Amino acid sequence: MTPPMPSRLSRRTDHDPPGVKDLLTSGLARACQYAGARPACQVLAVVCYGPAALCAPCDQRRSTLGKGTRPVALPDPRALLQITAASRACEQAAADLRDAVAAARRAGHPWSAVAAILGGTRQAAQQRFARTAGQR
Ligand SMILES: [Zn+2]
Repeated sequence: MTPPMPSRLSRRTDHDPPGVKDLLTSGLARACQYAGARPACQVLAVVCYGPAALCAPCDQRRSTLGKGTRPVALPDPRALLQITAASRACEQAAADLRDAVAAARRAGHPWSAVAAILGGTRQAAQQRFARTAGQR
């Protein structure tokens, strides 16, 4: 079987979990040889047989590819995807917090109430959120 064309790979990664495309374009992970060619392919390679990199499902289906070549395990790319997911969750939580503080301020709650909820001083809460929550 021949490796997929780059256009097939990029089309496939549009439907993959967030971060897969970034890992591949940054070179932090390798693409499976069958990415875009097999429906069950998980795109991110977990093992190499010489120059051929395979994801776990494609490795299980492997027949003659890499025969006689010692497999070399790659670091699990899902660990990097977990960082991506956690980082995005942090960004979303920070945006939610800014929105909640702004809503509390619009509802008439003083900075001292915001500070009491967050733990910290009124001045610290005001400095942190005044730009997005409106002054005073
Ligand atoms: Zn695969």
